[in-house]
Amino acid sequence: MDDLTKLPGVGPSTAEKLKEAGFTDFMKIATASIGELCEATGLGEKAAAKIIEAARELCDLGFKDALEILEQRKNLWWLSTGSKNLDSILGGGLESQSVIEFAGPYGSGKTQIAHQACVNLQCPERIIADEKLKEEILDNPKAVYIDTEGTFRPERIIEMAEAIGLDGKEVLKNIKVARAYNSDMQMLYAEKVEELIQKGENIRLVIVDSLTSTFRTEYTGRGKLAERQQKLGRHMATLNKLADLYNCVVLVTNQVAARPDAIFGPAEQAIGGHIVGHAATFRVFLKKTKGDKRLARLYDSPYLPDAETTFRITEKGVHD
Ligand code: ADP
Ligand code: MG
Repeated sequence: MDDLTKLPGVGPSTAEKLKEAGFTDFMKIATASIGELCEATGLGEKAAAKIIEAARELCDLGFKDALEILEQRKNLWWLSTGSKNLDSILGGGLESQSVIEFAGPYGSGKTQIAHQACVNLQCPERIIADEKLKEEILDNPKAVYIDTEGTFRPERIIEMAEAIGLDGKEVLKNIKVARAYNSDMQMLYAEKVEELIQKGENIRLVIVDSLTSTFRTEYTGRGKLAERQQKLGRHMATLNKLADLYNCVVLVTNQVAARPDAIFGPAEQAIGGHIVGHAATFRVFLKKTKGDKRLARLYDSPYLPDAETTFRITEKGVHD
């Protein structure tokens, strides 16, 4: 947590108000709008603008050498989804240092994929990384599961774990579940992950299931849309930072909404619009087809072609 009283015009009481409103560090203030800060602190627009400007200078938004980025990308690793087909359209599996979105209607398999990812993190054969990095990842790796819909099921984890020869209870010990009842809790839990990592937990997988349901129920109507998108944007920034800084896989699920006005393009669209679209590195659309079969379509990826494949969800879990 940053010392907010370093900002111009911010004394202890304003700092307290800022923190209460969720502006706990310089980065959050740097990316806030003037209106948001006025509302949080009761300060005027000029004072708020000054604070934002100072916060922007204080957070190290430094440019990085492209060579440094290449170096960072050398640490990429992949977590298998359990389906070779699905891994293959993703370019090897769930890629670290990225946010991967699974979107689809109810029952399409989003939560199942999230459960399977938690199990696979405990399975050395399902982690693709060079030898040294793999050793680091496998040093007691933990998953964080932020559950906003109350659909996390430990029994299902055990079933999936046993299907691949793992001890179900051992796998459960390495999943930290947080039930978020509203968007503020959800955002707070995502921020807490960093603290866990700093305390020495080897967190390698962060799941938000679902990313948008709380926002969708709390911010209804056109009038709330801007606020909703702003908060969602901040949440996505937290998740992206976790992925990048700690070389984690971040997996989020998203509902789709029908577009009754669609004449061209898909009749269904992931919630969250451009904010989520631009912040997710990989987007996969899921659809239930015949029996246990699922269709997966990768779209809008920055460097992979759009692609489609099928996989299955059975009592064993996610597989081809
Ligand atoms: P959502 O996309 O809404 O999160 P889920 O991931 O919860 O959907 O998928 C639910 C579907 O997964 C069920 O309809 C069923 O087809 C399948 N499923 C869930 N659990 C099992 C199981 N134990 N055995 C077989 N199929 C299962
Ligand atoms: Mg679900």
